[in-house]
Amino acid sequence: MAASTDVDGFDGKIALVTGGASGIGLASVIRLANEGCEVVVVDMNEQAGKQVAADLGGRFFSLDVGDSAAWSRLVDEVGPVDIAYLNAGVTTGEADIWNLTDEQYRRLLGANVDGVVFGTRALAPVIAGRGGGAIVVTASLAGLISFPLDPIYTLSKHAAVGFVRSVAPQLQTKGISINAICPGVVDTPLVGDGREMLRQAGFPLIDPDEIADAVINAITSGDTGQCWAVQKGIRVAWQFPEPPTNPLG
Ligand code: NAD
Repeated sequence: MAASTDVDGFDGKIALVTGGASGIGLASVIRLANEGCEVVVVDMNEQAGKQVAADLGGRFFSLDVGDSAAWSRLVDEVGPVDIAYLNAGVTTGEADIWNLTDEQYRRLLGANVDGVVFGTRALAPVIAGRGGGAIVVTASLAGLISFPLDPIYTLSKHAAVGFVRSVAPQLQTKGISINAICPGVVDTPLVGDGREMLRQAGFPLIDPDEIADAVINAITSGDTGQCWAVQKGIRVAWQFPEPPTNPLG
């Protein structure tokens, strides 16, 4: 779907990135700052987030993205925003759902699902007030395919994909595009102990800068409701199959 507006140049734009203190968010916030944006780093890791913001001449806001009331405070305190990258997320690290605690489950849904929904709900009116802009969401390849190593993570990323595709038309009426980035395995702390094992096995881990490129592409693409699958050296707009139709209907 083509968006009615896309972001035309980054100079002087205000870009907010959740999970901006580490990994994909960090690479993206650096890239957005280098493109000329004024950046707002949003993270629950205050120490790292403050340092990133200071290094980039930006601002830091401490937030648990799953806390709806905190999003209202953010809107009041941060003010104008043109670009929002809703990226913060966690895994359960648990393949076996019988080992999953309620706390692990709620924490993951808070970050990966509530963070995207509350962030979009809070920021869309702010972005619309600037005449339009762009929202990008980090989903995952696990939002497009099955991933038995973490079924609850997979659930949350499918939710993010469904949300992005379904909310796009109403945001388009406000001049806002929303797209999802769906990376394979990226070389960040989220991958945990598996990172070194994968590296040694020669598995092609994606550099976070490649995801930052995909974010810039999503913002400037002129598309909305699109999901970009990213593997090392590869970026494709994911094509969803049409549902079956009743040939007699
Ligand atoms: P990371 O652990 O390096 O960074 C995540 C950041 O999010 C951290 O700074 C953390 O403090 C912050 N965060 C986590 N929960 C939060 C919350 N509730 N409120 C505020 N901040 C919170 O991980 P990453 O790999 O950069 O992950 C970023 C996103 O990319 C996540 O949504 C993740 O699911 C997604 N993703 C990662 C990979 C991968 O292989 N690394 C692959 C596909 C998708």
